[in-house]
Amino acid sequence: MVAKTLSTDILILGSGGAGLFAALHAHQAAPGLAITVAVKGLLGKCGCTRMVQGGYNVALAREDSVERHFMDTIVGGGWLPDQDLAWQLVTLAVERIKELENELGCFFDRNPDGTVHQKAFAGQTFDRTVHKGDLTGIEIINRLAEQVWARDIGRLEEHRAVELIKSNDGKSISGVLFIDMRSGEYLLVRAKAVLLATGGGPTMYKYHTPSGDKSCDGLAMALRAGLPLRDMEMVQFHPTGLLAGTHTRMTGTVLEEGLRGAGGYLLNGARERFMPHYDSLAERATRDVVSRSMFLEMRKGSTTPHGGLYISMAHLGPERVAREFKGMVERCADCGFDLAGGLVEVVPTAHYMMGGVEFAPDCSTGLPGLFVAGEDAGGVHGANRLGGNGVANSTVYGAVAGDTMADWVKGQELAEPDPAAIEEAIAVCESPFGRKSSVPMEALREKLYGVMWDKVGIIRDAAGLAAAQSELDALEAELDRCSLADGNRAFNLTWHDWLNLKNLVAVSRTIAAAATARRDSRGAHFRADFPDRGALESSRFTSIQSGVVSMKPVAFTRVRPGETLLRDAA
Ligand SMILES: Cc1cc2nc3c(=O)[nH]c(=O)nc-3n(C[C@H](O)[C@H](O)[C@H](O)COP(=O)(O)OP(=O)(O)OC[C@H]3O[C@@H](n4cnc5c(N)ncnc54)[C@H](O)[C@@H]3O)c2cc1C
Repeated sequence: MVAKTLSTDILILGSGGAGLFAALHAHQAAPGLAITVAVKGLLGKCGCTRMVQGGYNVALAREDSVERHFMDTIVGGGWLPDQDLAWQLVTLAVERIKELENELGCFFDRNPDGTVHQKAFAGQTFDRTVHKGDLTGIEIINRLAEQVWARDIGRLEEHRAVELIKSNDGKSISGVLFIDMRSGEYLLVRAKAVLLATGGGPTMYKYHTPSGDKSCDGLAMALRAGLPLRDMEMVQFHPTGLLAGTHTRMTGTVLEEGLRGAGGYLLNGARERFMPHYDSLAERATRDVVSRSMFLEMRKGSTTPHGGLYISMAHLGPERVAREFKGMVERCADCGFDLAGGLVEVVPTAHYMMGGVEFAPDCSTGLPGLFVAGEDAGGVHGANRLGGNGVANSTVYGAVAGDTMADWVKGQELAEPDPAAIEEAIAVCESPFGRKSSVPMEALREKLYGVMWDKVGIIRDAAGLAAAQSELDALEAELDRCSLADGNRAFNLTWHDWLNLKNLVAVSRTIAAAATARRDSRGAHFRADFPDRGALESSRFTSIQSGVVSMKPVAFTRVRPGETLLRDAA
């Protein structure tokens, strides 16, 4: 039963770059509005924007241009990005980085002449990644959080959104049902506009990088609300996740790309360098190529004690490595590895979901009153996200959403929520309590990790995907038989684990379905049975809605394959 009901004009789910920018922009556009940020963790302390190490892509230098950034994004995305969304990303990134520095107080690294320092990132034809050392996300989130705290913006922390509640007539959003994690009680927040900014996050894979609060909740809620999701087969793997055993959460976390960029070698279990056999760029090839080569090498069986591969930096000189990669050396030492002078075990790790809810450039979705931004939104990156375009995406589209919602709520009334939808959602959340079965949840999580890693991971084929779909069906059935002790609901982490798994399985099924439908290999998606890229001119993207996948043509609204927006390219 709902213990409490609140009302607000704008409700924002998530406090990453997307959620906080949306709150600030909506408040700036219309200071009189009631704005509430609701978040599963603590505002400013959770989500992946805070974890950004590398930095933020933006065309600032005189020799660079938004056209060049755009072309890198389109080519890097395998010609699958929505071109209008990608154009808005690169043009508004310039405004957002200036706002971050000049209005919100971020200090980014600078060159001796006072200009902003921009470093190289893979897949870009110009060094355009703005950063604050390798702790860029902490700088951005701390400054954004301070600004939100300083304004009259409501906060619901440790509140987990569990369902989008439509209006009585089913035609618009009316609010969101939450579990107040501190008490375990249900709370309904009614709102005129709701922003989905829960940040995706491929945490259904055995090895993954995102923060533990991310379990694809927003995507699962959107699916249940009947919204279309695009590009769901596109899951990016980062090549060098730390591999330190199952006892530590450090396993799967990222060892930064700069290690390979600086000249690090990848070695197999026999301590032989293997990347030159796979690609002429060897360790400096793009993330998808290196991850795939590593996966193939691991399949050959020559692996490290934990079943992965090694990264070796010692040939560059231990002192230099210790000096240039201080943080990484310390992180590895915490797990018993000597990065500067020895070998560190690594494995490709699931990092980012390019797929998400289909949306318009103003962040609106197919459900009136529901908006989406950041990693929950699909279409900006296509088949591959360039490193540095993730945080640009969340801040650019968060700001757009804030502006749009402030305008949208003018003249809107709160819609009456559908009571049956609320009851149904609560019944699902309550269903594991008091059942008799004792399916151990830890085992179910391991099963999910295994099936996604082995069959819906870096290399896929029809047989594996078909097997995965039935294993996911079986997992869902097992989850629905799971029982939880009917005790204290306050901070009941086992309950939240169960809710996380329900959402992860639902979204995993869409990844498997979209991967089955795409019969080619593009960007992050590789089919061993369809290894060709397919014709760029007839590129199509996957769209899944109510369990049905369709292939939709990419609209080349600004540039066609074979063309470029760069005047000096010909
Ligand atoms: C280790 C790491 C390093 C990265 N480095 C870079 C980089 O160098 N450059 C780059 O461009 N990108 C990088 N990325 C990607 C980047 O972090 C993301 O693209 C971006 O930050 C996503 O922003 P967001 O606002 O959409 O989501 P997030 O910042 O993840 O925020 C999501 C928010 O939603 C909340 N939430 C989740 N579920 C619920 C729920 N049910 N109810 C309420 N709230 C909920 C979370 O608690 C969180 O507050 C990195 C990612 C990782 C994991």
